[in-house]
Amino acid sequence: MKIKIKGLGEFQLNPSTPLKNLIPEIKKISKVLPVGFKYKDEYIDWHYTFNKDISENLELEPIFPSDKEALHFLRHTSAHVLAQAVKELFPEAKLGIGPPTEEGFYYDIYYERSFNEEDLEKIEKRIKEIIKKNLPLERKELSKEEAKDLFKKLKEDFKLELINEISDSEVSIYSQGDFIDLCKGPHLLSTGEIKAIKLLSVAGAYWKGNENNPMLWRIYGTAFFSKDELKAYLDRLEEIKKRDHRKLGKELELFTIEEDIGPGLVIWLPKGAILRNIIENFWIKIHLQRGYQLVYTPHIALRDLWKISGHLDFYVENMFPPMELENRVYQLKPMNCPFHIYVYNQKRRSYKEFPIRYCELGTVYRFERSGVLHGLLRVRGFTQDDAHIFCREDQLEEEIIKVLDLVIYFLKVFGFSEYKIFLSTRPEKFVGSPEIWDKSEAALKRALENKGL
Ligand SMILES: [Zn+2]
Ligand SMILES: [Zn+2]
Repeated sequence: MKIKIKGLGEFQLNPSTPLKNLIPEIKKISKVLPVGFKYKDEYIDWHYTFNKDISENLELEPIFPSDKEALHFLRHTSAHVLAQAVKELFPEAKLGIGPPTEEGFYYDIYYERSFNEEDLEKIEKRIKEIIKKNLPLERKELSKEEAKDLFKKLKEDFKLELINEISDSEVSIYSQGDFIDLCKGPHLLSTGEIKAIKLLSVAGAYWKGNENNPMLWRIYGTAFFSKDELKAYLDRLEEIKKRDHRKLGKELELFTIEEDIGPGLVIWLPKGAILRNIIENFWIKIHLQRGYQLVYTPHIALRDLWKISGHLDFYVENMFPPMELENRVYQLKPMNCPFHIYVYNQKRRSYKEFPIRYCELGTVYRFERSGVLHGLLRVRGFTQDDAHIFCREDQLEEEIIKVLDLVIYFLKVFGFSEYKIFLSTRPEKFVGSPEIWDKSEAALKRALENKGL
C-alpha cells in the first residue's frame, strides 16, 4: 500500500506490517526521525499497523521531537515506564489508567497504602534503569477474549473491567520488556528515547472518579526530550509554589481554613479582614457611583423560594442539604438572585424607573466535593460581588456595555491586563423562552463587538 508522509514523500508499505518498517528508508531522507504521526486527527506511532483492506491513499502528518505534540508520545511511554517500575518494586500493586496530560503524565495504581517520598525515589531510580536498558516497545492486537485471559493471568482487575467496556472486538496492548499494558498508544519506539523524567507527587484518586469505587494512588510525573527543558519546567514549578496563595495567605496571616471548622470554609484573620474591608468599601463606592443600589439579603431562606426560582430543578446538586425548623424547610443560599427579585417586587414599577440596578456582596454556600476544594479558589462558602439589573429590552445593549466597562475597570484597578473573554450562550438546561435567550445572546455579542473585545 502507498503511504504519503507530508514533507517526506511517498512510501510503499506491505499491508499488515507496522509503519516502523519504513524507518530505514525514511532515515535516508530525513536526518531527524519523526516521533509519530497524525492521521485523521488521531495520533499513531511507528508500531501502528494499517488494516490490510484500507484501499484509500494514506496521508500522514509527521510529528518531530521539536513539535509540542511529540510530548504526548513521550509522556505516554513515560507513564508505562512508571507502571513497569512500580510493578517490579511492588508486585502486588494493580494498575488503573495512565495517560499523558498537558503538563506531564500520571498513573493510577491500587496499593494497600500510599506511596511515600522514599518509595517515589526508589521508583524513579528504577524508571531510570528501565530507560537505560532502552527496551523496545511492541504493539499487538488481541481479540477481547485473548486480552481477558492475559489480564486475568496478570491479576489486573481494573484492566479486565476496562476490556469489558470496550465495544470493539479487538483491543491493542503495548509491551516493553516483561511489562504489558492495555493501551491504544501512541508510544515511542523504545524507552531510551525518554531523556529527562521526574516524579512529582502522589494523590488519592477514586477509580473512574467515583467515590463509591476503590481509592487508587495517582503518581504524577513529567518528562521531556532534554534535561534543559525539564530543569526549566521544575524551576517554573518552584516559582509557582513560592507564589501559591495558600502559602502566602498563611505567611502574611491573611486567612486560614481549619479542619475543625470545615473544609472550604474561610476564616479571615485581622490582616486579611482589613484588606478585604478596604476592597469591599472601594467596591461599594464604585457601584454607587455607577447607579447601583446596595442591598443585603439573608444567608438562608425557605426551601420553597428555591423551588420558585428554579434552583431546585437546575442547581440542587450544588446546594447544601435542607434543614427543618418548626415544621418548615430551609436552605442555605447558593445564589442571591431570588432575593433581588423580592427587592424589585416591593412596589409596582413603571418602565420610566428602568434601569434598576441592585448590588450585593452576597455570601453564598455551595456544595463542592472535598476533592476539588482549593484554597480560596474553590470553597464551600464565599462572598460574591453580585448584581442584578432590571431594564427594558431597548436598554439591554447599553446596560451590558456598562457592565463590561465596570468589569474591565475593576480588572485594571487590580492590575489584571491579560484576560480572555468568553461569550456564554444558552446552556442545555435553561429557564425562560428561547426567543428571549436569542435576543440576549445577540445583545451580548453586539456589546462585545461594540467594545472591540
Ligand atoms: Zn497507555
Ligand atoms: Zn443572579
